[in-house]
Amino acid sequence: MTKERSAFAEVNEKVRQASEILGLKPGLVQALQQCEREVVVSIPLRRQTGLEVLTGYRVQHSSARGPRKGGIRFHHEVNLDEVRALASLMTWKTALIDVPFGGAKGGVAVDAKSISDIEREEIIRRWTRSIHHVLGHQRDIPAPDMGTDSRTMAWLMDEFHRLEGFQPACVTGKPIELFGAPGREESTGRGVAMIAAATLEKRNEKVKGARVAIQGFGNVGRFAALVCHQLGFKVVAISDITGAIVDRKGIDIDEIINYRNVSEIPLYENIPLHEVLEQRCEVLIPAALGGVITSDNVEKINCEYIVEGANQPTTTEADVELRTRGITVVPDILANSGGVMGSYFEWTQNIQQYSWPIEKFRKELDARMSRAFADTFKESQKHNVDLRTAAFVLAVQRVASAFSLRGDLV
Ligand code: NAD
Repeated sequence: MTKERSAFAEVNEKVRQASEILGLKPGLVQALQQCEREVVVSIPLRRQTGLEVLTGYRVQHSSARGPRKGGIRFHHEVNLDEVRALASLMTWKTALIDVPFGGAKGGVAVDAKSISDIEREEIIRRWTRSIHHVLGHQRDIPAPDMGTDSRTMAWLMDEFHRLEGFQPACVTGKPIELFGAPGREESTGRGVAMIAAATLEKRNEKVKGARVAIQGFGNVGRFAALVCHQLGFKVVAISDITGAIVDRKGIDIDEIINYRNVSEIPLYENIPLHEVLEQRCEVLIPAALGGVITSDNVEKINCEYIVEGANQPTTTEADVELRTRGITVVPDILANSGGVMGSYFEWTQNIQQYSWPIEKFRKELDARMSRAFADTFKESQKHNVDLRTAAFVLAVQRVASAFSLRGDLV
């Protein structure tokens, strides 16, 4: 997969373009682009093969609009540039959907598939011990991302409680039994599906029967598939790291939802992994890795809409090419923002020690996602720009305004 520019440089280019439209002064733009704090820690891990020293990260991009918020990823490709990019994206995402958070991201460079549960627990506890002084429900609140899940967040919370005392709002995406919120786990995928439906409806196209192809069958891809299916879309292709399946008549998502790996799903035609992105469909949902739609494969993309479930799945060059071909891209900071919206609901419930029924959670999520979509669409018409530029203009304007009002010399 080609990476045409560093991930952080890609985000900052979007910030620069939005700032230009808004007419922001260069000093302010520079302040908005840089990260407030970066912590890099070493995590010694005793494994059967001997001692292995992993590298862990927490990058806090901005606290202009509230405590920093962002997931923690376990993946072998995690590096400082990627974590900076993802932290910055969180700042723009939280501003776009108008929740009172800033942006942060964490990660550990480790192959999540090769570690045991005991090792996973040891890694997250050591990561938490090393950086707990910069975490907390009013400072920086982690959540799950690729390679981590609700169980990992339970260990993080437990370690944090040992060091700082009871504070369940210090992390979101926890198990329901441990101060998690019913609805949070499905919220990113649900939001992706709701945004896909809203996009078609805005163009007066039918949701019922519209074909969807999804790359990734983890937290985001799985729930996006389920909710798309419930909304009447026809899911024609799905992949994960183990395999890919296709059915032009539509995959029965209710039947396959509990399979752990796509390669284990019987009765469907198998195709090479990369072909999922090339399927003829109305909506393509990349929901696995970043940098998967590049100038190398953009010509083969065969859909009308791309709804970015993953963070940064499309490079800038590919984005330009897609626009030229008339393919609409719904950007990550809007499309996958259901996750941080859901985290906001969990955080508020933890602080109030009051829990919502799942029906209320879903209703609030759907309403706020629909408002964020409408705001972004309106902004794109106002400036006559694509949805990604519009999303950045709205977000950058809100963060710039908060930053300036706080009186930080700008
Ligand atoms: P996950 O670890 O639960 O799932 C990742 C999925 O991608 C797995 O099914 C894996 O097999 C698949 N995958 C990996 N490499 C692949 C390949 N080459 N081809 C096809 N499939 C492949 O991760 P997740 O939480 O679902 O996150 C997926 C993406 O969504 C990431 O970019 C993440 O940053 C973003 N995201 C996640 C959340 C969240 O709440 N979890 C919120 C916003 C954005």
